[in-house]
Amino acid sequence: MYNIVLFGPPGAGKGTQSEKLIAKYGLTHLSTGDLFRKHLGEGTELGQLAKKYMNEGRLVPDEVVIGMVEDKIAETKDSKGFIFDGFPRTTAQAEALDAMLKSHQLQISGMIALDVPEDILKERIKERGKTSGRVDDQDDEKINTRIKVYLEETLPVADYYEKQGKFKSIYGVGEIDEIFGNICAVIDQY
Ligand code: AMP
Repeated sequence: MYNIVLFGPPGAGKGTQSEKLIAKYGLTHLSTGDLFRKHLGEGTELGQLAKKYMNEGRLVPDEVVIGMVEDKIAETKDSKGFIFDGFPRTTAQAEALDAMLKSHQLQISGMIALDVPEDILKERIKERGKTSGRVDDQDDEKINTRIKVYLEETLPVADYYEKQGKFKSIYGVGEIDEIFGNICAVIDQY
């Protein structure tokens, strides 16, 4: 069983690579961004709460995100493992994730970070915005906020896993299949 944190700034390719990883390893995709967008679309209370943060490119408060992930893990008991995509985004979320997994006798196998230069991220997000319909993909100010939030609040999560000897970085620019091959090479060593 693998429990993998796929890490990286917005536009790094986490969603694209997650799809390929699910197909190859049969893992459960747990994308907090996708879960929030589902709640938004369904107009739930959680969606209403997350909306203003998402539209501004800021992080939804930890306790809201953690509660949502807890529910998802609890309802997916017979999974072969998880790919965490867009979570954890703060050290508090990483600590909560460790505790949650421990309570199910599970643990994180490793974090794989996709490394992509900032100018390429911005190009990719704008390109995605043409078809994704995501308001947070279509506005320079929102894109800049998300990258700033990533650098200030999320990057420390890499140190958290580095200290546990669980961090690997992969260059995320180039052919999708080549990047995928490099990710698989890391996973196959777990
Ligand atoms: P994403 O699709 O991962 O880029 O997430 C879209 C938006 O959802 C983010 O800009 C945040 O507002 C919110 N979000 C997603 N995951 C998290 C998380 N782990 N912690 C806080 N906010 C999150």
